[in-house]
Amino acid sequence: MTEHTPPVTQTSNGAGPRRPAAEADVIVVGAGPSGSTTAYYLAQAGLDVLLLEKTRFPREKVCGDGLTPRGVKALVAMGIGVSEQDGWVRNKGLRVIGAGKRLELPWPELSSYPGYGLVRPRTDLDQMLARRAEHAGARLLEGVTVTGPVRHERTGRITGVVAKDANGERTYRARVIVAADGNSSRLSVAMGLRKRDDRPLGVAVRTYYQSPRHDDDYLESWLDLWDGDRLLPGYGWIFGMGDGTSNVGLGLLNTSAAFGNTDYHALLRKWLAGMPAEWGFTEENRTQPIRGAALPMGFNRTPHYYQGLLLVGDAGGMVNPFNGEGIAYAMESGEILARTIAQALARARRAETERVLAGYPRALREAYGGYYSAGRAFVKAIGQPTLMRFATKHAMTRPALMRFALKLLANLTDPGGDVSDRLVNGLSKLAPNPK
Ligand SMILES: Cc1cc2nc3c(=O)[nH]c(=O)nc-3n(C[C@H](O)[C@H](O)[C@H](O)COP(=O)(O)OP(=O)(O)OC[C@H]3O[C@@H](n4cnc5c(N)ncnc54)[C@H](O)[C@@H]3O)c2cc1C
Repeated sequence: MTEHTPPVTQTSNGAGPRRPAAEADVIVVGAGPSGSTTAYYLAQAGLDVLLLEKTRFPREKVCGDGLTPRGVKALVAMGIGVSEQDGWVRNKGLRVIGAGKRLELPWPELSSYPGYGLVRPRTDLDQMLARRAEHAGARLLEGVTVTGPVRHERTGRITGVVAKDANGERTYRARVIVAADGNSSRLSVAMGLRKRDDRPLGVAVRTYYQSPRHDDDYLESWLDLWDGDRLLPGYGWIFGMGDGTSNVGLGLLNTSAAFGNTDYHALLRKWLAGMPAEWGFTEENRTQPIRGAALPMGFNRTPHYYQGLLLVGDAGGMVNPFNGEGIAYAMESGEILARTIAQALARARRAETERVLAGYPRALREAYGGYYSAGRAFVKAIGQPTLMRFATKHAMTRPALMRFALKLLANLTDPGGDVSDRLVNGLSKLAPNPK
C-alpha cells in the first residue's frame, strides 16, 4: 500500500552506516499507551505498522500509576485481562481530603464505564500494551530513537523518519506517520508544531514508599497543598500499589503564580511531613528517587494533523485538565486515530485520503473539545488562591456536590443518564470548542 509515497529527501543528522530504508503503511513513533494502542488498532485493521520505541521494555515511566474507570474501559476494549489474578490492584473510588474533611466517593454506577479503577506500575502496563500491539501484528522495534522527519523536498510533507539504533542510522518510510512520542514530542517540534502557551500545563513529581497503606482500595487525593498561606491549584496523591509500596506524588498547574518558582521536591517533603508516622512516608522507606515530568493538558499542541503527521496522546496535549489523567485519553485518542487512518488508507485517491485524515482533529474536538474548554476555564479559576480555598471549603461539606464533581472531574457520565450526567454533558456541549 505504498503507491502514494512521494520521492523523499533525507534530513540525516548523524554519521554511521546507512542501511536500506524500511517501509510500512504507518509508522508510529513511541510505544507508550498512545502509540501501542494506535498500533494495536491499526494492525487489527490489517495495516502494516512499524512501532518505533527508543527504550527497551520493561522500562520506567514517571507516573501516578492510577487508572480511573475510563482507563479500565480502554484496557478491556483491547482484550487485556484486568482481574486481580492478572496482577491488578482494584480501587472502588476516590477518597478526597481537604479543608479538614475526608470524603469517600465511590466511582459512579454507569452503563458506559465499569464501577472500579485500577493501579499498576507503568513498567508493567506499558510493556503489556506494547506486546499486545505486537501480538496483533504490529512490528515493534525497541532501542530505536527517531532523530528527525524525512520530508518531501517540494511540499514539506513528512514521508518517513530517520532513526538510530545500536547498528547505526536508518530511514523508515510510510504513507502516514504518527507522533506518539510523549510530552516533548521532538518529532512534532521538528515539524514546527510547538506547545501552545494559551493552554494548560501541569508539572508533577512522584516516588514510592514502603507503607502499610499499600493495599488501599481507594485512590486518595489531597487538596491541601500550601505555599505559605496560599492554597495551590493541584493535588497530592497516595495510590496503593499492592506490592508493599505506595505511589506518592503531587502536581501543580501553570495557572498559579507559584508554578514556575516552586521547589517540587521540597513541597512534597513538606506535605508528607504532616502525615501520620505509621504510614511510613519517610526517607528510610523511600524505594525510588523522586522524579518529575510535565502533563500537557487540554489540547496544548495543535493542529493534530499537519503535513502527513498525526499527533496522539501527550504529543497532542491530551491530558484531562480537570484531574491530570492521561493514560485513558492516550489510549482513546489512539483508537480514534487508528480508525481514521484505516479509513483514509482504504481510499483510492490521494485527495480522498487527505480528506479523511483531516477529519481526525475534528473527531478529537467532537470527543473532548467542549469538555477540555470547560477544563481550561476550571484551571484558570482555581489558579486564584481565594477561589481555590472557597471551592475546597464549600465543596468538602457537601457530599452530593462532591459526587457530582467526581463525575465532572473524571469525565464519567452516561449519554442521557441521570440529572448530574446531563448537567456534565450539557456543560461540555455548551463550552466553546475552538481549534
Ligand atoms: C508525575 C506524573 C504522574 C501521572 N499520573 C498519572 C496517573 O496516575 N494516571 C494517568 O492516567 N495519567 C497520569 N499521568 C499522565 C500520563 O503519564 C501520560 O498522559 C501518558 O503516559 C501519555 O501516554 P503517551 O503514550 O502519549 O506518552 P508516553 O507515555 O510519554 O510515551 C511516549 C513514548 O515515546 C517514546 N519516545 C519518545 N521519544 C522518542 C523517539 N524520539 N523515538 C522513539 N521513541 C520515543 C518514549 O520512550 C515513550 O515510550 C501522569 C504524568 C506524570 C508526569
